[in-house]
Amino acid sequence: MLKLTRSDYEAIRTHGEETYPHECCGILLGSINDDGTRVVTSIARAGNTRTDSAHNRYNIDPRELVRIQREGRNRGEDIVGFYHSHPDHPAKWSSTDLAEAHWFGCSYVITSVEEGKAALTNAFELTGSDETDKRLVDEKIEVG
Ligand SMILES: [Zn+2]
Repeated sequence: MLKLTRSDYEAIRTHGEETYPHECCGILLGSINDDGTRVVTSIARAGNTRTDSAHNRYNIDPRELVRIQREGRNRGEDIVGFYHSHPDHPAKWSSTDLAEAHWFGCSYVITSVEEGKAALTNAFELTGSDETDKRLVDEKIEVG
């Protein structure tokens, strides 16, 4: 399960509306409980470095990722997930999303943005042990 505050949840959705018709992306920071629940305590927006096809691809600059990770650690937060938007596409992961997901045990949040308005927001956990058996599994989002 993924727990988000109402304001972080809304900020993720608003980000997708702002970057429409392009994809937005960002990072979820927080901690993981003993029962495996990921608790998000802050989010960080990231620039989408994919300019060739920014409407259906996203990529976070590795240097930006390292900086956000370091700033999070200074606050006692770890990276627990990532988010991006799907402009005019369903809130389901694509084969590209799976191929480019590498953080096992992290959440991947996808918001569909239809004609500029955020629609569904879904979360998926990357499970498995390596690149050959990894899967994105439906995950419940709890907001509040
Ligand atoms: Zn995607």
